[in-house]
Amino acid sequence: MDLVIARPEGLYCPPGDFYIDPWRPVERSVITHAHGDHARGGNQHYLAAAPGEGILRSRLGQDINLQTLPYDERLQHHGVTLSFHPAGHVLGSAQVRLEYQGEVWVASGDYKVEPDGTCAPFEPVKCHTFITESTFGLPIYRWQPQAQIFDEINQWWRGNIAAGRASVLFCYSFGKAQRILHGIDASLGPILAHGAVEPLNRVYREAGVHLPPTIYAGDVKKNDPIMGQALVIAPPSTSGSTWVRRFGDYSDAFASGWMRLRGTRRRRGVDRGFVLSDHADWPGLLWAIEQTGAERVMVTHGSVGVLVRHLREQGLDAQGFTTEYGDDEEDSVSAVDTGEEAS
Ligand SMILES: [Zn+2]
Ligand SMILES: [Zn+2]
Repeated sequence: MDLVIARPEGLYCPPGDFYIDPWRPVERSVITHAHGDHARGGNQHYLAAAPGEGILRSRLGQDINLQTLPYDERLQHHGVTLSFHPAGHVLGSAQVRLEYQGEVWVASGDYKVEPDGTCAPFEPVKCHTFITESTFGLPIYRWQPQAQIFDEINQWWRGNIAAGRASVLFCYSFGKAQRILHGIDASLGPILAHGAVEPLNRVYREAGVHLPPTIYAGDVKKNDPIMGQALVIAPPSTSGSTWVRRFGDYSDAFASGWMRLRGTRRRRGVDRGFVLSDHADWPGLLWAIEQTGAERVMVTHGSVGVLVRHLREQGLDAQGFTTEYGDDEEDSVSAVDTGEEAS
């Protein structure tokens, strides 16, 4: 029996009668993490890993009907044993483990295998069937160690300070922004954060994640001399806007896994691209899949076909799973970033 099937509302567990990250409102939802394409409003009941509570409430409303469960703790529902395990993607992100009549399935949600200090590191979970994401499921995607990327960002910031101009770094406001804040050399200068980023910084700090002090960018006046030394963290939707022009003479950059693709930086019209992703790269995906020991793999997001073919060649029973998950490193979610209703 399949413990998870695709339904128009989302991934559904028939014996448990609940959905995982549904894209249409349902009665019972199990949420892997708070990115907009996985955690949507309108469900009657939410279940999520405990470390994600603050983010989920800040994004979906303080009054959502949310039940939380610490990582590794088990819950019984209609004979299905459910538990959450760290996915290493963003604060509170979890893989969902389901066990029913001896069968074990794990739905990964989004995951990253390199620990970054802003959330619990990814933990492989043994299972018979693994539902994996594949946002960067092509062999060309191989990330450099993040320490190297942070060196590059620090160097760029240092160079801009020397030239007396602001450094505007575009990145997704939930997860990527906090990872960058945690990883950069905050001693170089003041750090300003856009209004979409600052509330999430607060939730991370309340959860015990160390972030350097940040100044709400809206509080800094145009032509303030600190602009020339500042690093500005802002969502991609602000690129080219009047909001960003207040920084006068600035250099801009974009941090995303997509910067690995030639031409992306130019299309974005930014000075620099930093290849930094909160998703597993190709070797990371293959490693994670192997660690689960699963014989059957269902692939969602991104480059489904290439990964499915590769896994079949390895002798695994692999297939694509049609979902409506988006891409949290892209602009398609920028409407959510700026607090506007996504269409
Ligand atoms: Zn995500
Ligand atoms: Zn996703």
